[in-house]
Amino acid sequence: MKKVLIFLSFVLFFACKEQPKETAETTTQDVAKEELQKPANTFGIVIHGGAGTILKENMTSEKEAAYKAKLKEAIETGHVILKNGGTSLEAVEKTINILEDSPLFNAGKGAVFTYNETNELDASIMDGSTLNAGAVAGVSTVKNPINLAREVMINSPHVLLSGKGAEQFAEERNLEIVDPSYFYTEGRMKVLKRIKDKPNHADSKSATSFYDPIIKDSKFGTVGCAALDKHGNLAAGTSTGGMTAKKWNRIGDSPIIGAGTYANNTTCAISSTGWGEYFIRGMVAYDISAMMEYKGISLEEASKEVIQNKLTNLGGTGGIVAIDNRGNVSMEFNTAGMYRATMNADGELTIGIYKE
Ligand code: ASP
Repeated sequence: MKKVLIFLSFVLFFACKEQPKETAETTTQDVAKEELQKPANTFGIVIHGGAGTILKENMTSEKEAAYKAKLKEAIETGHVILKNGGTSLEAVEKTINILEDSPLFNAGKGAVFTYNETNELDASIMDGSTLNAGAVAGVSTVKNPINLAREVMINSPHVLLSGKGAEQFAEERNLEIVDPSYFYTEGRMKVLKRIKDKPNHADSKSATSFYDPIIKDSKFGTVGCAALDKHGNLAAGTSTGGMTAKKWNRIGDSPIIGAGTYANNTTCAISSTGWGEYFIRGMVAYDISAMMEYKGISLEEASKEVIQNKLTNLGGTGGIVAIDNRGNVSMEFNTAGMYRATMNADGELTIGIYKE
């Protein structure tokens, strides 16, 4: 027995001694990788309230102040959660709720109208630590579609639910249900009427001619948020009413993971806004993350390349907000303006509307 114990002690001693030698041999690259994956010990948040033809000359100072105040309220909501050690997912959801409840933005309460004068809302959310995601499309009775997207992610085996089924799931999960008339706003109805009155609009077959009057007439107005929490986890979410005068239960990029929303702890978290068809075709959010991952370039370089070159060359308009796993932020757009705000770990707030 004594001999066995002595033998085991020897084995243990040499096994422990060998350990550092093995790791030392595998290192340089691994250490670099590990460094990248380590939590940055910081946090931050960035939001958008839509991009588009947002020009100073078309804006009153009251309207501008109202937009800025709402963006500030929203981002502060998320920032407090992050500051207190909450998760990026929680921050994204609660921040988007503030914007969804405001008639100023094309999401939740302020959703735009379909051609048939209904409201069909889309949303998605993604957890960068697990690559888990949830999304909903074409819901008309759910007050806060981002909450439903999160329910889909956490409490269903699916990623994307649509229409009546999604609404039924919302009821089962006890989310707040509203009458579809909750989403009626006079301003959005006026825009729809104006677009419908334009000649030839109803017969347009190509995406460009169908959307041309819409793009010229209105802003996109979707809302989105990307956040990095103190635990090093990234999350992103997007919520929208889609595009004015959309037909045939059209679904845009906002509920499409990889197009409207993407989050991956090894790269960044992104939310898009703009002409959805192009964001789907360009897989814009994932493309930015993939460029960072495969080319090893920064968030700033990747978002510039995707928005200013690839999306623009495709003919698409819009922008993104994004944050990487070190807390660097990007707010890139190729339109006249984008409602946007960001706040870092020190509480420094930046709000923007027009191209600077
Ligand atoms: N991207 C949205 C869509 O195409 C619209 C927007 O960003 O406002 O549905």
